[in-house]
Amino acid sequence: MHGRSRHLEHDSDLGRAPSGWPVNADQLRNPLGLWWNTLGAMASLGHIAVGMAAARSLHTPTNPGKLFGWMVAWSLLSMLPDADVIGFRFGVAYGDPWGHRGATHSLAFAGAVGLGIGALARLGSLPALRMGLLATAVVASHGLLDTLTDGGLGCALFWPFDPTRHFAPFRPIPVAPIGRHFISREGMRVALTELVLFAPVFAFALWPRHQTSGRAS
Ligand SMILES: [Zn+2]
Repeated sequence: MHGRSRHLEHDSDLGRAPSGWPVNADQLRNPLGLWWNTLGAMASLGHIAVGMAAARSLHTPTNPGKLFGWMVAWSLLSMLPDADVIGFRFGVAYGDPWGHRGATHSLAFAGAVGLGIGALARLGSLPALRMGLLATAVVASHGLLDTLTDGGLGCALFWPFDPTRHFAPFRPIPVAPIGRHFISREGMRVALTELVLFAPVFAFALWPRHQTSGRAS
C-alpha cells in the first residue's frame, strides 16, 4: 500500500522515535520545531470530536459561550494522553512503558483520571459521578482511537498489568504528517479523512437543539 510505504520512508530519518512520530534529531534540538510537532501530533480531529461531544452530552447548551468553554476543556482532556510526548524530550523511548502511547494510553490511566475529575467536580459542586464516568470514557477513547491509526506503535491498553502495545484489527485512521509536512496535500487528505470518519460525532456535538423548557440565556 502506498500510504504504508510512505510512512516507512518517513521513519528512516527519525531519531529516537519510530514510525508515526515525526520527531527527528534536528527538531529535538529546536524547541519551536518540537512545539509545532507536539501540537500537530495532539491536534487529532477525532480526539477533539470526542471532547466536544462529551461537553455537549453533559452540559446544557443554554449559553453558547459557556458551552464552547466546556468543549475546549473536554477536548483538552481528550488529548491529555498525548502529553506523554514530553518524554521524548527527556530521553524516554517510544516503546518504553511511559513512552508515547504507553501508560497514559491505558484503561487504568483513564480510570485514574476519571477518579481525579470526579473528585474535582465534587469540590466544585458539579455532578461528580457523571463527570468522573464521562472523563474515564473520554480518556479511554483516546487509547482506543489510537489503536485504529495506521502508523506508530500500538497502545499499552492494559498497562500496568501488561505492557504489550495493541492495534485494532482494522486501522482506517491515517497518522497525520507533522511539522513541516503538516500543511501539505497529505496533511489535507488526513484531515479530510478524519473529518469524514468523525462527522457523526461532530454533528452530535454541534447540532442545534431546542430547549423543551425554560428560556435560553
Ligand atoms: Zn495518543
